[in-house]
Amino acid sequence: MEIEVIEKDDRKMRLLIRGADIPYMNALRRTALAEVPCMAIDEVVVIENSSVLQDEIIAHRLGLIPLKTDLDSYNLPEECSCKSEFGCNLCRVSLTLDVEAKEGTITVYSGELLSEDPNITPVSDKIPIVRLAKEQKLRLEAYARLGRGKNHAKWQPVSTCTYKYFPQIGLGNQCDACGKCVEICPRKVLIKAGEKIEIRDLMACTLCQDCVDVCPMNPPAIEVSWKDGAFIFNIESTDVLPPGRIMKEATKIVREQLKEFISQVKVKRSEKD
Ligand code: SF4
Ligand code: SF4
Ligand SMILES: [Zn+2]
Repeated sequence: MEIEVIEKDDRKMRLLIRGADIPYMNALRRTALAEVPCMAIDEVVVIENSSVLQDEIIAHRLGLIPLKTDLDSYNLPEECSCKSEFGCNLCRVSLTLDVEAKEGTITVYSGELLSEDPNITPVSDKIPIVRLAKEQKLRLEAYARLGRGKNHAKWQPVSTCTYKYFPQIGLGNQCDACGKCVEICPRKVLIKAGEKIEIRDLMACTLCQDCVDVCPMNPPAIEVSWKDGAFIFNIESTDVLPPGRIMKEATKIVREQLKEFISQVKVKRSEKD
């Protein structure tokens, strides 16, 4: 398998993967969504809440705040040696919130959560939690843990994780450059350059075939297909982990799961024999 990074920044990554097949691409996508762990608030002890929102709604809103994750310093609660329901310093982080609207109505934002670990903090300070009217208070202690997206979407480290076939577009000699395919393309993949049609952005093609259907030539002067075994993989992190780390963890998990699968098959076979 060959992997080429086409685009990359702190949050997003686009890869060109050659020599893979659909089951593997789908396994990678689903693993990034549902199996790569990240931190999220999982338990809240409300000490005082005189806001208009019930404790449960506030706890739910807190759970959905993405938290910067440090996978190397924390264990998943089920894998932690403490084996405690309450957790320990290796599987739990405490965050506190203590706000009072003294002067008038205020909005409480995620930036007001104080974490005991400076590496585990909200990815943004500007996520609203609740509005407090004058003299209302909100005091609570929240506990964040590592978890997996398959158990709750709050533990999903990606906002987008998709793949598509690598497109191929061919233009035949019978093309008279009428421009109809350029006009209809919803992704502006094609461009008219003088008396010629050129490909402006091949990666943007969704293989919708609109350009083929609109072509007045018979057979159509444009052909859209895809390369066997080549895929464009897009991943966008919620900022809890860098996209490269999510991909690394996802491939590690897929590898471990396949190893486990093979060893289970071997056990079943030897039982039969
Ligand atoms: S619609 Fe067909 S003939 Fe017209 S420019 Fe496109 S490929 Fe060429
Ligand atoms: S298949 Fe669809 S997206 Fe691709 S070039 Fe044709 S019209 Fe554009
Ligand atoms: Zn622990």
